[in-house]
Amino acid sequence: MYALNERQQQIVEKAEKLGREVLGKYAQEVDEKGRFPEESIKALQEAGFMGLVLAPQYGGWGEGPRTFIAVLDTLAQYCGSTAMVYLMHICGAAAIQAYLPADGEQILRDISAGRHLTTLAFSEKGSRSHFWAPISQARQNGSAHILNCEKSWVTSASRADSYIISTRAPEAQGPMEWNMYFMPTTTPGIKMAGPWNGLGLRGNDSAPVTIQDAPVPVNQRLCEPGSGFSAAMQHVLPWFQVGSAAISIGLAEAATRSSVQHATQTQFQ
Ligand SMILES: Cc1cc2nc3c(=O)[nH]c(=O)nc-3n(C[C@H](O)[C@H](O)[C@H](O)COP(=O)(O)OP(=O)(O)OC[C@H]3O[C@@H](n4cnc5c(N)ncnc54)[C@H](O)[C@@H]3O)c2cc1C
Repeated sequence: MYALNERQQQIVEKAEKLGREVLGKYAQEVDEKGRFPEESIKALQEAGFMGLVLAPQYGGWGEGPRTFIAVLDTLAQYCGSTAMVYLMHICGAAAIQAYLPADGEQILRDISAGRHLTTLAFSEKGSRSHFWAPISQARQNGSAHILNCEKSWVTSASRADSYIISTRAPEAQGPMEWNMYFMPTTTPGIKMAGPWNGLGLRGNDSAPVTIQDAPVPVNQRLCEPGSGFSAAMQHVLPWFQVGSAAISIGLAEAATRSSVQHATQTQFQ
């Protein structure tokens, strides 16, 4: 379906094997308990998948959207929660690679080596589904920007090592003038604001997070001042859009397959 070359096909086969042997093994328990799919994420980290789209100079595999969506589709067929965590991680990793914050090269090497999980913290209580137009606004304090935000859905909220976070620039006059930052989750002022108790994808920890007076050095900004929208449109949202679609396709494929199996292989006793 994705017209992959031989190398890309091998990567997808590797994902398929992990899906069969690890993701599928834990998916039901992950969903029933609403717990993070740690075994599956660890397996992806150990196999090198976290650097799928990063350049080889950072230890990545240098793959593009075609391989990414084929991998996501495959993972989603075994565990939707794992696929969601992986999607948000790749979106964040792509932003870090595009705009290299301070220590960016080391962060990228850590990502490729499976030592760093990242995610997006864009959506806010106030902006709701208009996640490209944050309500919150940073204020300047010397060489740092101080962030105060009510983020409504942050996948891997309590597990990620960093957030790629949006907020209006200190000098912003309107909702479209925002910055995107790299924020380690060790930054003071980050608080989990509630549990994630979803109807589906119950293991992805897409929880609300409150950011209170959290300082982020200006050199961790991942865009030109006030141009987070353009940066996200170029380097984050394309991955997000095709990746979200691939997860939906994977879930639908698995549901169809299991329905057909049930309808054709079960019998009236
Ligand atoms: C599993 C999951 C993981 C997620 N992970 C992340 C993440 O890691 N990072 C992140 O930043 N965000 C994440 N999101 C959030 C997502 O990007 C959306 O922002 C969020 O789902 C919007 O939800 P809401 O309840 O606020 O929607 P609402 O804004 O309440 O929308 C509900 C419905 O109303 C419609 N609607 C809204 N406004 C209007 C309008 N003005 N006119 C007409 N119709 C309208 C919408 O289209 C939708 O159908 C995640 C969401 C889910 C479900």
